[in-house]
Amino acid sequence: MKYIGAHVSASGGVENAPRNAHAIGATAFALFTKNQRQWVAPALTAAQIDAFRQAMAQYGFRAEQVLPHDSYLINLGHPEADGLAKSRESFFEEMARCEALGLDRLNFHPGSHLRKISEQESLRLIADSINMALERTSGVTAVIENTAGQGSNLGFDFDHLAYIIDRVEDKSRVGVCIDTCHAFAAGYDLSTEQGCDEVFTAFEQIVGFEYLKGMHLNDAMKPLGSRVDRHSPLGEGQLGITPFKYIMQDSRFDNIPLILETPDEARWPEEIALLKSFV
Ligand SMILES: [Zn+2]
Ligand SMILES: [Zn+2]
Repeated sequence: MKYIGAHVSASGGVENAPRNAHAIGATAFALFTKNQRQWVAPALTAAQIDAFRQAMAQYGFRAEQVLPHDSYLINLGHPEADGLAKSRESFFEEMARCEALGLDRLNFHPGSHLRKISEQESLRLIADSINMALERTSGVTAVIENTAGQGSNLGFDFDHLAYIIDRVEDKSRVGVCIDTCHAFAAGYDLSTEQGCDEVFTAFEQIVGFEYLKGMHLNDAMKPLGSRVDRHSPLGEGQLGITPFKYIMQDSRFDNIPLILETPDEARWPEEIALLKSFV
């Protein structure tokens, strides 16, 4: 099965996200379980958790169709003790929120070295951070997203993802999400069929499809290798429509949430319908 959707709004409460997803014809969705620009959020109440679980059942969503995204403030590879401790606590809380909601994965950007420590040191901190969160939670997989490599952000190279996974103790609860725009911006040419073959063969060899727990489907505004993270509507950027057709027709991308983060949400119903038509 192909689960196709978008990063929908959870404003007014997490229980609104399944309905918002259903309304645009989605069979998958992403959401923030708290305000993504704030460090702290009030704990989820029993009533909210109950309402979310009911909405999931009502609209026919299971955990494997949902890819929650954590706060942009969190940096699990932070070079300084205070920033790292704050990030780790906040990440644990986000994992715990997913667990409470009956969700089984949490998507996050690995982290940034902020030019104060080496890439390798920061990657090791990220792996340690994941180990700490996994120890304190259960049933939720930590899903590392590849990045465009803007600034000092790590995770733009498949080798970074493999390096982190290698240092995570519980391999059954670590995974990755590949964002097509980020991959292209990082120099992985997904704009042609041959390019897709090559990039995903490299992904299989370096990381492995068994770790793929979600995809972000975004066209890229900036050229190959630009290291700039700017999403475009499908077919209107530098990637074009080819990689999205490719992904829809390839069983390696079955049974995971395939999530649009394209800029114009008014077009999501149309983009979801287009993706479905390629399956
Ligand atoms: Zn992301
Ligand atoms: Zn993304």
